[in-house]
Amino acid sequence: MSSSAFKTPQRLSLSDGKTVALRIRKSRRARRMILRALPFGAGAELVLPPGVGAAEGLDFARRRAGWIQSRIEEQPPRAPFADGVEIPFLGGSLTIRHCPQLRGVVRCEGSELCIAGGTAHLPRRVADWLKARAREKITPCAHGMAEHLGRRVKRIGLRDPRTRWGSCSAQGGLSFSWRLVLAPVPVLEYVVAHETAHLVEHNHSPAFWGVVEKLVGDPSEQRQWLRRFGPELHRYG
Ligand SMILES: [Zn+2]
Repeated sequence: MSSSAFKTPQRLSLSDGKTVALRIRKSRRARRMILRALPFGAGAELVLPPGVGAAEGLDFARRRAGWIQSRIEEQPPRAPFADGVEIPFLGGSLTIRHCPQLRGVVRCEGSELCIAGGTAHLPRRVADWLKARAREKITPCAHGMAEHLGRRVKRIGLRDPRTRWGSCSAQGGLSFSWRLVLAPVPVLEYVVAHETAHLVEHNHSPAFWGVVEKLVGDPSEQRQWLRRFGPELHRYG
């Protein structure tokens, strides 16, 4: 990456003086330039195939600013964590309730998630609670699957990446999006199986998919769910 366009975040000018963040990345597999809206407030992404420079890419993006603006504007609005907001949770849903009088910090009662304390702390408390549930769900799942494959998970990290649901490092550490707790359980389990299978096969070969199937069966339904509904999980919080 020689051009500074890859390092410094770019802004793309839209109409009415609006701008959006434009992330530019190179792809060895891309055959043409691809411009797309990223989910919920993350702006746009421009993918460059081999041989296309940043300047040419930026020019391409500028000419399509009107198109990308409509794609961004047709997305459903963000759903910040606040009183009365309904959030998906492990295939069901929870409604956030601000309960200033509640003892403790957070209590989950049926389909209500009651959050104590001041309004200012509510978003962080909801996020912390969801991350704790994600860890609770993912950790035993990953260790169990790894054991089944005769491998060991070194460590499990939880992050909030924009474009991926999990990753596996060469050192045997796994990392997941805490937002998987907003997806149905079989989807979460598939992603855990996918990353755990990389402890055995560090690629996406047929052998790799064989390992995934051994862990969770045919994952095509789950993969389809993630492609279709995954981006929406970024609306929350
Ligand atoms: Zn993979």
